[in-house]
Amino acid sequence: MKRQIRLAHLYPKMLNIYGDLGNVLTIKKRCEWRDIEITIDEINIGDPMSEHDMYFIGGGQDMQQIAVAKELQKNKAFLQNEQNLNAVFLAICGGYQLLGNYYQPHDGERLEGIGLLDVYTVAGSNRFIGNVTAEVDYLKKKTLVGFENHSGLTYLNGKTKPISHVIIGKGNNGKDKTEGARYKNVFGTYLHGSFLPKNPHFADYLIGLALQKKYGVEMELESLDDSLEYYAHASVVEKPY
Ligand code: GLN
Repeated sequence: MKRQIRLAHLYPKMLNIYGDLGNVLTIKKRCEWRDIEITIDEINIGDPMSEHDMYFIGGGQDMQQIAVAKELQKNKAFLQNEQNLNAVFLAICGGYQLLGNYYQPHDGERLEGIGLLDVYTVAGSNRFIGNVTAEVDYLKKKTLVGFENHSGLTYLNGKTKPISHVIIGKGNNGKDKTEGARYKNVFGTYLHGSFLPKNPHFADYLIGLALQKKYGVEMELESLDDSLEYYAHASVVEKPY
């Protein structure tokens, strides 16, 4: 029987700046290269939600975040239940901020998040823009790379832990050296780039978690020739900010 994964791409028409679609394409290809049947459903504003193994939400400017924040509130209970069922979420930047408790932009109302991550974000006076190298200790490759462009400063609380710690760059808030956030199988990060193409080890980590959620057992993924991906990864590692 073919392994299967269903991925929901949330609000791609609103949140997809800096090529964040590349994350969905990476998951798609890395599944197809392993003969894992992947279904990708786009969920836009007004569309009904349904159970999926993985969810992806990209980044966007404050304007688009306002519209998506309202829509997410309508689906808060459903998505919290999906988190409790160990569905895998990857949220980038603006999407990440909306999976937290709230995002306070420079101007305008505070945007309520859906609380999948115990984090809050407030717009800072500077914009963090540049290449990021961060370190991880739970993957075979010990670095994650990407490009950040945000003014939001994100602070983690409770059981929500960072994904990595910045070596070069600002990360969550430019102060505590943390980058991204994780609680259960919900992951948020400020790394655009897009993120997963240059970090195949993290993409496989997410695919493995999604298969474990769906089939209840840990599955070893077939190895792939990632020489091109790691050539791109190496081109960013420790690039000056
Ligand atoms: N508007 C948010 C900020 O500036 C998110 C930006 C983004 O998604 N790159 O922090």
